[in-house]
Amino acid sequence: MNANRRLRPNPPSERSDSDDNGILNERILFLVFQSMDWDIQALSSTASVNHKLRAIVKRLLWRELCKYRAPRMAAALGNCAPNGRIGGGWHTLAKLMFFCGGCEPTRNFKVSQPTPGHLVKSSRFSKTSGQSFLTKKCRGDLLYVSDPCEHPMGEKEDDLGIYRGVFKGFDKSRTRAYLIGRRVKLEERVRCPYCGAPVWSMTTAGLVPKSAARRLGSHHGALEYFVCVSGHMHGMCWLVPLSDDENGLSEMNGCDDSDFDDDHYGGVRRISYDDRTATNGSIGSMGEEVVVDGPAK
Ligand SMILES: [Zn+2]
Ligand SMILES: [Zn+2]
Repeated sequence: MNANRRLRPNPPSERSDSDDNGILNERILFLVFQSMDWDIQALSSTASVNHKLRAIVKRLLWRELCKYRAPRMAAALGNCAPNGRIGGGWHTLAKLMFFCGGCEPTRNFKVSQPTPGHLVKSSRFSKTSGQSFLTKKCRGDLLYVSDPCEHPMGEKEDDLGIYRGVFKGFDKSRTRAYLIGRRVKLEERVRCPYCGAPVWSMTTAGLVPKSAARRLGSHHGALEYFVCVSGHMHGMCWLVPLSDDENGLSEMNGCDDSDFDDDHYGGVRRISYDDRTATNGSIGSMGEEVVVDGPAK
């Protein structure tokens, strides 16, 4: 019986290195996923096959996916990073690009029920939008923020907006220096949905400018966002109901340092972007990053 067992071919997971050099060849893997337009679900599945593939995907391929899906944002974030490493790793950035983190009730933001996270088809990240989430003393930081993912909460409540973002070089950012300098406490019950690290509440820290509400199409005080120690941001807000009512627009217009584009007026939440790229990763005239799940067209 022992002899029979020895003659049997090994199952795939027990093969020696020489048997699977092909699929473990980094160049081949790169070309395979390039031909698949860096399909995030295929890459996730590949990473779960075994520890060798997971290591290659984590070390090399998540970064390539990020560079393909959001070339300018990935270049900006990786630019200042020693050895090309970024806070939390490239796999957490890939998750941040494609995953809306959902919403749980928190100290400063109450919801009647938790909202689960989910994969998104596409998101737009803008560093101009990110500036709206920084107070004046932190405006030198570079922060990319997505447009809010809209979650209807039924007729009795406004829609919930859930958004996310990432700092460039958070370790050296003014925001982190302020949080550390003021000894702002980390939240006890909230963790980063992307890397699992502890987070600071920007409401608790007093770092939520009025421009954040305007950017989101919300009201000041009707939003909250968190920044984790790796520099990922996630947040939620109550969205002002869509209206082409002049009063609604003038209410939103009444703020002093608006940076919305006029061409987004008229019944549409006025979220504008000065940065725009095509979904295939080419760079458009305005520099916004659009990440798309599925083959880019
Ligand atoms: Zn969502
Ligand atoms: Zn994080």
